[in-house]
Amino acid sequence: MSGSQADTCSFCGKPASQVGKLIAGPHGVGICDKCVTTCGHLIEREKTRDGKSSATGPSLQGTAPKTPLAPVKLITPSELRAELDTHVIGQDHAKKVLSVAVNNHYKRLNDRLAQARGDKKGELSEVELDKSNILLIGPTGTGKTLLAKTLAKMLDVPFAIADATTLTEAGYVGDDVETVVLRLLQSADMDVEKAQRGIVFIDEIDKIGRKSDSASITRDVSGEGVQQALLKLLEGTICNVPPAGGRKHPEQQCIRVDTSDILFIAGGAFVGLDRLIAKRAGTKALGFIHGGNIPPKLSAEEVLAGLQPEDLFSFGMIPEFVGRLPVISVLEPLSRDALVRILTEPKNAATKQYQKLFSMSGVHLEFTPAALEALADRALELGTGARGLRSVLEGILLETMYHLPEAVAGSKFTVTPEAVRGTNPVAVTPPTKANKKSA
Ligand code: ADP
Repeated sequence: MSGSQADTCSFCGKPASQVGKLIAGPHGVGICDKCVTTCGHLIEREKTRDGKSSATGPSLQGTAPKTPLAPVKLITPSELRAELDTHVIGQDHAKKVLSVAVNNHYKRLNDRLAQARGDKKGELSEVELDKSNILLIGPTGTGKTLLAKTLAKMLDVPFAIADATTLTEAGYVGDDVETVVLRLLQSADMDVEKAQRGIVFIDEIDKIGRKSDSASITRDVSGEGVQQALLKLLEGTICNVPPAGGRKHPEQQCIRVDTSDILFIAGGAFVGLDRLIAKRAGTKALGFIHGGNIPPKLSAEEVLAGLQPEDLFSFGMIPEFVGRLPVISVLEPLSRDALVRILTEPKNAATKQYQKLFSMSGVHLEFTPAALEALADRALELGTGARGLRSVLEGILLETMYHLPEAVAGSKFTVTPEAVRGTNPVAVTPPTKANKKSA
């Protein structure tokens, strides 16, 4: 045994402080708990490939479950919707569409498990259910990611977010599409079976449009190439995931993951889609002001009603790809009212979070109704939806938070519209008896 103790995992390079357990070997070599699990999976897959395990059905090939997986506990659409309501403001249509699609998705998963077990109940038992991947269209910061994340949390399934713009066709600079599945695996602690029931949110899907219709000299590796590569994942395939991410190389050992039961939710802003639909539908019917420069503003409902696959093709989406996202919803841009509600109503609303931080220093934080409206206005100016609210608040409260440790216990800090606009600092009221008691 060498005297030197391992302080990093020799496989993934993570320091001991970032892993659960670091098992030390001789000569300063170490391996962390996650890499042990990964290696276990690799050995298991090798055995499967050597034919030591029988395939139980197309979806379960390569995963070699020793015992049949338990069916997923179904949550009804209305239960899903109720939980979404506690986190996400507005977006009624998207909530309904997602609740139904997610419920159907896990029904399908249970049906596939039943079919793999050979259970045959009723004349419809032979009918195979199609996968219902989802496309969420809507401006940035309107809750697309939040909706997907909230659903995954409720269902207690692994969840991963991927940015479509970082992906490229295999073999080119950038990440192979399999890294999307790797993120899910990582969020499932490298448990393949768990990951195979997870949810992946692919953001910025509108940015991987085909670059042009004409054949170009250079290959379109980040547009159409990525769509082609993602197609298979969306539809369901057994993909080889490189445990270290990035780009695959031929010699690398890979983890085999079946994506047939992974729910993919794609999100994109598709800027200008409403104008496109309005133009096609005829401006008169949609109340476009003739002769003016005012672009037709369609509501999310109108966009959805008028949406045709060709509209998405004009953003460079290829028909096969659009076809793999059969469930579509359009999210509303957030109004001033919605932004005010976002500031105060959700379980983890930003104002509640700051109030908690202040209360941990023994002081109170309040926002006047006018201040909340001013905050919403600032976010509207930024044009980044609710995303801007948090950074605006952080900026306003920075100075106060810096001096918070010196604040007199029981003091009350009030955010006014002037404080939001920066013309006055956040107001402080010295402690009263009542404040002192509740602080
Ligand atoms: P995107 O539509 O770009 O995916 P996100 O879901 O990431 O937007 O939203 C960014 C942040 O803004 C969220 O983490 C959340 O705090 C807030 N947010 C956005 N939309 C809503 C909404 N409808 N209800 C509540 N919070 C929201």
